[in-house]
Amino acid sequence: MTTIYLKPHKEESLKRFHPWVFSGAISRVVLDASHKAAAPEEGELVCVRSAANETLGVGHWQVGSIAVRILAFGEETLPADFWLSRIRAAYKMRVSLGLVRNDQSQITNHQSLNNTFRLVHGEGDFLPGLIVDVYAETAVIQAHSVGMHVNRKEIAQAILDEVPQVKNIYYKSDDTLPFKAPVEGEKTGWLINDQMVNDSEFWSIENGLQFRIDWLRGQKTGFFIDQRENRALVERYAKGKDVLNMFCYTGGFSLYALRGGAKTVDSVDVSQKAIDLVNVNVAKNFPEATNHTAVAADAFEYLSAQKAQGRTYDLIILDPPAFAKHRDAVKNALRGYQRINAKAIEMIRPGGILFTFSCSQAVDKEAFRLAVFSAAAQVGRKVRILHQLHQPQDHPINIYHPEGEYLKGLVLYVE
Ligand code: SAH
Repeated sequence: MTTIYLKPHKEESLKRFHPWVFSGAISRVVLDASHKAAAPEEGELVCVRSAANETLGVGHWQVGSIAVRILAFGEETLPADFWLSRIRAAYKMRVSLGLVRNDQSQITNHQSLNNTFRLVHGEGDFLPGLIVDVYAETAVIQAHSVGMHVNRKEIAQAILDEVPQVKNIYYKSDDTLPFKAPVEGEKTGWLINDQMVNDSEFWSIENGLQFRIDWLRGQKTGFFIDQRENRALVERYAKGKDVLNMFCYTGGFSLYALRGGAKTVDSVDVSQKAIDLVNVNVAKNFPEATNHTAVAADAFEYLSAQKAQGRTYDLIILDPPAFAKHRDAVKNALRGYQRINAKAIEMIRPGGILFTFSCSQAVDKEAFRLAVFSAAAQVGRKVRILHQLHQPQDHPINIYHPEGEYLKGLVLYVE
């Protein structure tokens, strides 16, 4: 196996189980005899050693500022049962947290049904570069590193062996693999489809609500599982309210608001495909509902137009896409958060509530809170924080890898 030697003292973060080796920390690369090229192949397993020749771990090699993602600390090679044991541990955790509630025959209260959860959350499950979401009997794998792409079939087999509900596995990595990496094989498509799942007629259940999941054309793996707990909180506050769900995607927050007894719910997203799915989801769960409206529109334009007509709401949800995808975009992102939050706060009736989120990893919670503070001050309303929200338990943050924290939200009471 190829060996990566670090510069002196660069082993410290690895000894504290941070899984990334930056390219600047490497002193030399010693290729094994199988290499024809002068560098390791992207995605190959390499052993990392300190300058003093201590074994630090084994991980995936990749060209870029993160050169190695450590899979197993203190090992020279991957243990034979590595994939099985990691997937088993991830599944066991979700079961122990009560997220896998699949047995309809045992359950009388439909709200306790749930077969939608994140099985693997990258570094948070000690599998850097790998995301796996489970929708009923189908798992969707997303590789963010070339190494995970190379290992995708072993990962799929481990999921089939360890997760009883999963029968089919879809692979969706065309948007997440490094653009320039030379990868072999398809980046997207079925790895296993034993049940001949029909992509366009697929339903998954989250807390008793049914959602059409479209991993072929949808965003991410098809759904934003990370808002499950925060949606449940919207349900608690929705009774009798006029609700606006801005950046609604397939209507997650809207369905919970409707179940919570909202008076009216308006769902808005710039994507017409998303709006079509909101309508499908509302019709499936609330066939009699006449109090829901879905509109394809830009958020800023919609809010300005509604304000001009004097429209107001009791409860607004703002869940925009990541405004900052990189560190250098943070300043603009903060301005964006301030602008959109100011527009929303203006439209909240006295005594109303705003749920506001940021999923930009590069914007930390203090910076986000400051942007929302600026928005409140700009509008001149009295605002109090009721809840501080974050990503849920199936998106765990490895304490040695604080970069894994990305979703934050504030629930505000607006006088
Ligand atoms: N709240 C959703 C997830 C939101 S993801 C849920 O619970 O599932 C962000 C959404 O913002 C995407 O659906 C995207 O289509 C939409 N979007 C991006 N830019 C937008 C804009 N300028 N105006 C309105 N929607 C936008």
